[in-house]
Amino acid sequence: MIEELNDIALFIFDLDGVIYRGDVLINHSNLIVKILRNKGIDVVFNTNNSTATRDMYVKKLKNFGIQTMREDIYTSAYITAQKLSKIKPNSNIFIVGEIGLKLELEAQGHNVFTDNSLSDEIDFVVVGLDRHLTYEKVSIAQKCILNYGAKFYATNSDATLPTKQGILPGAGVMVKAVEIATGHKPLDIFGKPQITGIELILEKYDTSPDKAVFVGDRLNTDIVAGNRAQLKTILVLTGVTNEEMLKNISGELSTPDIVINTLSEIFIHKKL
Ligand SMILES: [Mg+2]
Repeated sequence: MIEELNDIALFIFDLDGVIYRGDVLINHSNLIVKILRNKGIDVVFNTNNSTATRDMYVKKLKNFGIQTMREDIYTSAYITAQKLSKIKPNSNIFIVGEIGLKLELEAQGHNVFTDNSLSDEIDFVVVGLDRHLTYEKVSIAQKCILNYGAKFYATNSDATLPTKQGILPGAGVMVKAVEIATGHKPLDIFGKPQITGIELILEKYDTSPDKAVFVGDRLNTDIVAGNRAQLKTILVLTGVTNEEMLKNISGELSTPDIVINTLSEIFIHKKL
C-alpha cells in the first residue's frame, strides 16, 4: 500500500465513477476491495444516488464480484431516513423521489406519500432524484410546505447525473424546483458534500477520521465531504474529473490529498 495509507483502517468508496460506471465494472475495482478486506481493512460504500435501495446495491455489487452487506452501503436516502428518525420517528413524509428513497424511509418506520392524500398532515417534504418529476408533485410539495408547515429536506443537490447516455439532470434540479416554488431552502441536505454520512460511518466503525480515507471521483462532493470530515482524500480519475479540471481546483476543501489514475495505484502510486 502507498505510504500515506499505512495507518488506514477504513476505506469509504463512492460508487459511480469509482467502482463502476453505469453497468460496467471499472478496471479491477472488485479485486482492490478484496485485497483491502484481506488486509483486515473495513470497506464501505457511500453514494449520493437515492434512486436504489441498499439491497439493490448489494445485488449490483454482487454481480460485479463484490460481496457486501446492506449495512456497508450508505446511500443518501438511507442517511436521510436515519437522520429524520432522530428528528421525528414514524413521521408522515411526502417525497419527490424514487423507489430507493421510498423504501429506505419506510424501512425506518416512516409513512411515505407520493400523492395528495394526506397533505395537511405531512411532517416532512423530502426531495431526491426523481426521473418522473411532474408539475403535480412540485405542487403538492409546495402546498405541504407553504400551507401546512411541512419541513423541507433534501437527499442531495448534485447538479448532474452521469449516465451511459452522457450527463443528465441531477437531484439538485428537483431541489431547486421546490425551493423556487416555496421560497424556502432545504433545512438540511444529507448527502455529500455534507458529512452526515461519513459521521454515521465513523460512528458505526468506531473509527477516528485520521484512520479513514474517502475515495471518490467528484471534487465538489466526495473530496469536499472527505476533507470537511478530516479524512484522507483520494481522487480517482476514472469518473467525472479529468486532469484538465485538476488545474482549476478552487480552494483547499476541494483539493484531494492523493490523485490516482486507477484504484490499483492505491498499492503502487505513480506520481502524475
Ligand atoms: Mg461518483
